[in-house]
Amino acid sequence: MAHYDTLVIGAGFAGAVTAGELARRGGRNVLVLERRDHLGGNAYDCLDAHGVLIHQYGPHIFHTADRRVYDYLSQYTAWTGYQHKVVASIPGPEGRMELPVPFNLVSLEAAFGPDKAKALEEKLIAAYGAEKKVTILELRQSPDPEIAALAEYVYDHVFVRYTMKQWGQKPEEIDPNTTARVPVFLSRDCRYFQDPYQGMPAKGYTPIFQRLLDHPNITVELGQDAAARLTLGDQLLLDGEPFAGEVIYTGAADELFGCRFGRLPYRTLDFRFETYDRDFYQSHGTVNYTMDEDFTRITEFKRLTGQELPGKTTIMKEFSRAYTGTAGEVPYYAIINDANNALYGQYAALAERYPSLHLLGRLAEYKYYNMDAIVGRALALTDKLLGG
Ligand code: FAD
Ligand code: UDP
Repeated sequence: MAHYDTLVIGAGFAGAVTAGELARRGGRNVLVLERRDHLGGNAYDCLDAHGVLIHQYGPHIFHTADRRVYDYLSQYTAWTGYQHKVVASIPGPEGRMELPVPFNLVSLEAAFGPDKAKALEEKLIAAYGAEKKVTILELRQSPDPEIAALAEYVYDHVFVRYTMKQWGQKPEEIDPNTTARVPVFLSRDCRYFQDPYQGMPAKGYTPIFQRLLDHPNITVELGQDAAARLTLGDQLLLDGEPFAGEVIYTGAADELFGCRFGRLPYRTLDFRFETYDRDFYQSHGTVNYTMDEDFTRITEFKRLTGQELPGKTTIMKEFSRAYTGTAGEVPYYAIINDANNALYGQYAALAERYPSLHLLGRLAEYKYYNMDAIVGRALALTDKLLGG
């Protein structure tokens, strides 16, 4: 073991970027341990039995405003120009109807017809400004009765039931930053994200990880749970021997310490894949079911990836529920609130006792981070570890 000077636990974006940078820029000898039998963490993609490129752990669309992150990843992949668009499928007067999400001026017209929409649009723009994003919680505070009535419509038709399915709680009960991810947008821009850099990796996500970790100084061991290899006692041991190098841990913080203060609460997802003998299944990459059905959304992978495969298409339905920690379950979404942050703080304080141990990533930091934020944080940590 002596020849490794760095241990990275987890081969998602946090682990792969850190390992790649420490090896390339720092000349470090890195051992990467990954519990799953593949690279990529939750961004892993692969061909299914029908030859459709799928995202095993839920739909992943890359978007960022961070030029450094975009340029960095662009060394490892080309991008398609995909711009994600989502609609809410809701029961309408004549069968189902589709409203753009985030709810915007196009949704307004689809919901209320041109005349009423025009009057509301003028009011909204006078109150908040053109092209502005207003959270649903903020819109509900409007003193104007017509705007307040519109806010109730959007709350009822887009947010309340979707949020109940996803979180088991109402929008006003969860972290306000979560619903703020999908604001009401006073614009005709129907894209889900407005970031200047967005798209899908031209050959998928998994090849990014293969390239990041393809370096003579990096050894990757798949199917290796760090819990069986790492001991955090008076000192840090790897396979029973003291390990003096840096340790970057990207798994769940509670698991690192045997959940001794109790489990950190998460939501998990059950994914149902269905394949159809036709070119396409639905109108958009993702359709949200904001009023009915048990699942939150349906994603059609070919619409995201641009894969050309006539006569076959695979979709995914997402069902959310409480995470119990049972084997095989994945903790997908941290449930951010004061009590859970305090519990996380107890684990983070334990980790601080080991100066060479770094908690990095969506799981290890117990945060709702997108991929670009993780890549940015991994680059910042490597800058720090390499001294600037
Ligand atoms: P992960 O990807 O979770 O990687 C952690 C890795 O550590 C895993 O491979 C895990 O197996 C491994 N590990 C954990 N514990 C151990 C252990 N004890 N020993 C060994 N290995 C271990 N972001 C976007 O930007 N755009 C999107 O469209 C998007 N969609 C998403 C959809 C869903 C359903 C979910 C859940 C997330 C989505 N994200 C999206 C967020 C994105 O998945 C994360 O930001 C990113 O994957 C986090 O990378 P990570 O390395 O921190 O964590
Ligand atoms: N949300 C909603 N209705 C929608 C889309 C989003 O109520 O049609 C709320 C819901 O609470 C969700 C949150 O906004 O959890 C964030 O949505 P986002 O699409 O960013 O979630 P993710 O893709 O990370 O699952």
